Amino acid sequence: MSTPEDINVRQKPAVAATGGGTETILATKQLTKKFGGLTATDSVDFSVERGELRCLIGPNGAGKSTLLELITGQLSPTEGDIYFDGHDLTDMEPHERMDAGISVKFQSPHIYESLSVAQNLRVPLERTDRDIEEVLEKTLDRISLSEKADEPASDLSHGEKQRLEIGMAITLDPTFMLLDEPVAGMSVDETADIAELIRSLHDDGMTFLVVEHDMEFVRKISEQVTVLNQGSILRQGPIEEIESDEEVRRIYLGENA
Ligand code: ADP
Ligand code: MG
Repeated sequence: MSTPEDINVRQKPAVAATGGGTETILATKQLTKKFGGLTATDSVDFSVERGELRCLIGPNGAGKSTLLELITGQLSPTEGDIYFDGHDLTDMEPHERMDAGISVKFQSPHIYESLSVAQNLRVPLERTDRDIEEVLEKTLDRISLSEKADEPASDLSHGEKQRLEIGMAITLDPTFMLLDEPVAGMSVDETADIAELIRSLHDDGMTFLVVEHDMEFVRKISEQVTVLNQGSILRQGPIEEIESDEEVRRIYLGENA
């Protein structure tokens, strides 16, 4: 795997060889976020390859959500830079990052309870020139909520609300999707639905960074796993290696496996 140092993500390879090498789509350089005296992310060099489905795990307070919010622009770094798909994101507004192809489902819910399912999906589409009706129909089908298009979002189950929120994020046809704990509080069936949705979007070429505690779920969807601890990357590798790593087990998996 390429290290952040040996790839200049501002320069895209002209053509990615089929079945060949990889291309870094996201890279953070020495990314640091301090909240007063607390360092939430500590000089993090992190990268994701195009087309990858990466899971990010780690104990509570490790800095996972902070890292996501630095990538989306909800937070500004104290130090360091972020590059994405040929752009230097560091000084870009959140909406400019969305236009560049980044979508996110945050940890806390961001749906409009009083609006219908379809109205919720229209919100992100309003400031675009996409064919709203076409995208709406396609998205409703994808998140399996066509039958509930006109119901108020407040009537949906927890799992359906999470699917709706992922739906809102995919209306903009992002290249890179960030999900913060997408199956927290879900039943086994609801979790399986989300896993299937993520896998099918990934099969269509979407790149993912998924923060999740549910190791069963991580096992189902993940390729590479990054472990964050106290604001730094502790380990990175295939799920089997991560799960059998002594130190990872000690600081994290003991409570979550
Ligand atoms: P995780 O998502 O891995 O549980 P977070 O990124 O939410 O961790 O938090 C990392 C650390 O930063 C924690 O110690 C948390 O209390 C702190 N933190 C996060 N957001 C803020 C904030 N807005 N103000 C102050 N401290 C924060
Ligand atoms: Mg979090």
